[in-house]
Amino acid sequence: MQDGYDAVVFDNDGVLTHPTRDEVVREAVAETFAEFDIDADDEAFEHAYAANPDPVASLASDHGVDPERFWARRERNVAAAQRAELESGAKPLYDDFDALHALRRDHDLPLGVVSNNQHETVEHVVDVFDLDGVFQTAYGRDPTLDGLRRKKPEPHYIERALADLGVSDALYVGDSGVDVLAADAAGLDSAFVRRPHRERYDLPTAPTYEIDGLTDLLDVVA
Ligand SMILES: [Mg+2]
Repeated sequence: MQDGYDAVVFDNDGVLTHPTRDEVVREAVAETFAEFDIDADDEAFEHAYAANPDPVASLASDHGVDPERFWARRERNVAAAQRAELESGAKPLYDDFDALHALRRDHDLPLGVVSNNQHETVEHVVDVFDLDGVFQTAYGRDPTLDGLRRKKPEPHYIERALADLGVSDALYVGDSGVDVLAADAAGLDSAFVRRPHRERYDLPTAPTYEIDGLTDLLDVVA
């Protein structure tokens, strides 16, 4: 814990926007299997749903499908389904999002996004809610199996965001265990937001701060 951060970097789902409805992702995964004419058993389906790279590579190969092609299509389908959710209002920004404007305006802090969602989905969030002027950098996972291997808890995309922002000392804000672990791995302090969907949720390791919402960040960075 320390005074004065040079930037604040945010997870997206469950922090900036509401989480994606589970069934939306499941439908897009089912659509992907249908497009490749693969009759997936429950185990294969769950691996594709949960984005486990090695089992996904095996199941595609077993059906004579190029794993990267299968995965890229799965990611495109899930991103398209989530874009529809963003546009319909089913996946809105949280009401306390305005705290980010205060962080920029009153505290002069550059802001970034690093999400485990698809990079395309992060771009859609920025586009649909017109946030281009809010964030100086934004990353989601690349639509490749290596993109999956680099997602949090790996610090890969957080480190890229820090490089873009030209800072080494930032606060990372998330709502998951992998967010706290990735912040630790990148040598950053973390703020865990305990939103209502995290009421009963155990963390694998203690965050630097636990907060109820984004407005609390104004005290954390003061
Ligand atoms: Mg999250």
